[in-house]
Amino acid sequence: MKLSIGCDLGGTNLRAAIVDLESGRILCQKSVPTLAREGHESVMQRMAALFLQLIGSCGMPKEAIDVIGIGVPGVLDLEKGETLFLPNLPGTWPHVPLQDTIAALTGIRTALLNDVRSITNGEWRFGAGRGMETIAVFAVGTGIGGGLVINNQLHLGMGGTGGELGHTMIDYSGPACGCGNHGCLEAYASGPAIAAMGMKAVAQGLTTCIGEMCEFDLNRITPALIAQAAQTGDEIARDIYQRAGFYIGIAAANVCCSIGPRRIILAGGVAQAGELLLDPIRRTLRERVRVMPVDQVEVVLSELGDLAGIIGVASWAADTAQAPRRDHP
Ligand SMILES: [Zn+2]
Repeated sequence: MKLSIGCDLGGTNLRAAIVDLESGRILCQKSVPTLAREGHESVMQRMAALFLQLIGSCGMPKEAIDVIGIGVPGVLDLEKGETLFLPNLPGTWPHVPLQDTIAALTGIRTALLNDVRSITNGEWRFGAGRGMETIAVFAVGTGIGGGLVINNQLHLGMGGTGGELGHTMIDYSGPACGCGNHGCLEAYASGPAIAAMGMKAVAQGLTTCIGEMCEFDLNRITPALIAQAAQTGDEIARDIYQRAGFYIGIAAANVCCSIGPRRIILAGGVAQAGELLLDPIRRTLRERVRVMPVDQVEVVLSELGDLAGIIGVASWAADTAQAPRRDHP
């Protein structure tokens, strides 16, 4: 059995699991708070300790683990194994040698990958993209991440920067995006953008049960609450998901014309709205793609849920990790 560790470096929690690479099955998992405010040195120490505890609690020798893969929420230098910019972590981690540090602390070779590219690899190897030559993944949560598999290869692009589907533009003169550009998909259809549509509807006094459901505290409006309202038949809530799905559909239409995917997979917390979001995406694709056989493109939900990234990066690491450098302390 080939085993490796997959880890999700999240803003709140460090989650790690031992993954059987033949089946994609998780043998055991553990999670500790990231405590990112303590700084990257402390987070890396806690991460290495988590991996060693995980191996111990699984009752296996360290030698049984082939590699460690870490899914990282941000921009990386894949060649050097460094983090360049992690927008959601304090300090943003410029030029932190995460790969070599973890390899030195654990004695196990290590590789890094962007978190949504990790999800993409997981879904492609073991989930909703299994057996597909070409897929696109939209991960809709606090932001919108993306990933592509093209002709049976996880697409990385220059330095691993390819696949940022959330920052493809819906309208070149649209609202400001967190990345500094205007009119990106993320500014229209991320979790906060969907919540903002709900807040606006209540603030404008439209006839919707969203107001009562949040007890008129606008800060309590979430995509999940709006989805719940939509499922009870609330027209305004349904319309919000129609709009969000339309925007994702427009971005997905551009992806269809670019890479001709067989499947488009929706992941992330907001995807839990299911058909509320899938339906307008499918409709928009059928209406707005003319130059490829769009009726053969399937739009589906992720199958591995919040384990996709951990499984995907464990599998990625096995394919790419280098042996730890001898000159490291
Ligand atoms: Zn953007």
